[in-house]
Amino acid sequence: MARRIDTYLQHLIPEEKFAFYETVRDFGDAAIAPHLLQWEREHQLVPDTCIRAMGDLGLFGLPVPEEYGGQGGDNTDLVLMGLAIGYHSQSVAITPGAALSLGAKPLMLCGTEAQKRAHLPDLAHGERMFVFGLSEPGRGSDAANPQVTAQRRGSNWVIQGEKCWATNAHWASHVIVHALTDPNGPNGRRSTCFVVPMDHPGVFYQEMKGKRVWEQSSTGSIAFADVEVGDDAVLGAVNDGFKVMVTTLNGGRLFVASLALASLAFALDRSRIYAEERIQFDDKPIGRFQRVQDVLVDMDIALERGLTWLLHLCRLYEDNQLTREQAAKVKIDCSRTASELVMLAMEICGGVACFDEFGLIRHHNDLFVTRVGEGSNFALKDLVVRPLRGR
Ligand SMILES: Cc1cc2nc3c(=O)[nH]c(=O)nc-3n(C[C@H](O)[C@H](O)[C@H](O)COP(=O)(O)OP(=O)(O)OC[C@H]3O[C@@H](n4cnc5c(N)ncnc54)[C@H](O)[C@@H]3O)c2cc1C
Repeated sequence: MARRIDTYLQHLIPEEKFAFYETVRDFGDAAIAPHLLQWEREHQLVPDTCIRAMGDLGLFGLPVPEEYGGQGGDNTDLVLMGLAIGYHSQSVAITPGAALSLGAKPLMLCGTEAQKRAHLPDLAHGERMFVFGLSEPGRGSDAANPQVTAQRRGSNWVIQGEKCWATNAHWASHVIVHALTDPNGPNGRRSTCFVVPMDHPGVFYQEMKGKRVWEQSSTGSIAFADVEVGDDAVLGAVNDGFKVMVTTLNGGRLFVASLALASLAFALDRSRIYAEERIQFDDKPIGRFQRVQDVLVDMDIALERGLTWLLHLCRLYEDNQLTREQAAKVKIDCSRTASELVMLAMEICGGVACFDEFGLIRHHNDLFVTRVGEGSNFALKDLVVRPLRGR
């Protein structure tokens, strides 16, 4: 049976974009899907061979301009990659996804020409990875006021403190550190972003152990002990760090929405096929029960609606028209709807859904991250409500 998501994408995107999606989809089927179970059971991160293969396919350079060694594509390509690879595994898809949407993107948006020339070509080939150092042990949703500090020492800056939850930390060459630089400045203008090499003296990385979501994705804590960097490490303007971070997160939230829809698309196919194969009562498939059909229909509606909405927002993003509220809303809706419906999909499959090899439990677990990652849905509603209150 053809994937339901393909039916929709075929009509929603131009032919050449669909051809690109098919290439990544086929790569996922051949190079990722057959190995996932083993990677999961052995608690492995995405293997280096797989990262290299994704690099060879150009996935780490999708929206990076050709003049900097990238594919010269756009955010739609990034989202299509999220849909194609996330269909099997969100945690594999987030590896190039975060490397681009959270790592290379801030550099593309706010970097100097020298910074872009120094890093983008290697980032675009997956030979270097930047991680996004916003969250801290004591600062999650309240990210505008970091406890990590950067203070002047002569003409340099000295960074102290700890970041956590840094996706891709295991492979990272550099971390973008969001640090407090002007404690008395106006809210949102107290911090600065710095690009710091992971092998710089005083930088210590540890993988965060025990995570049971996004299992193949690396998540690290990164400590900074007296880390001295020059002005050339500043990304964007001094005291404009929060702006760098929130501008980046707009694109990141579109990518997270694509992961939620990818999981929904997988669950729809898995459960509609199973519902026709599973025979109960009178030698007939469970797909004849209307309550089972209701779940499938609701998933199908949510998938078509989510894809249409998300791809529309990608076009707005390319035209610099996407607002923070729009990016937050699509992330909230796709993650919430997909996680609720995937739970129902598991219910209509019954006990077999408990098994890792059936595939649904992985998506069920990973969907939790789409609800809290890149801004928890509850906290993001603070943004969405503002225009409703005339603010
Ligand atoms: C797998 C994974 C990967 C991640 N990758 C990265 C990364 O690469 N870089 C990075 O910087 N961060 C990353 N994060 C961190 C992520 O962005 C944070 O988890 C998220 O911002 C929420 O912060 P917190 O977990 O500290 O929750 P808290 O801020 O402690 O909030 C806990 C809960 O309180 C409630 N809450 C908080 N604030 C509000 C509010 N204003 N209104 C209503 N309710 C509220 C919500 O229910 C929220 O979920 C990652 C997280 C995960 C789980």
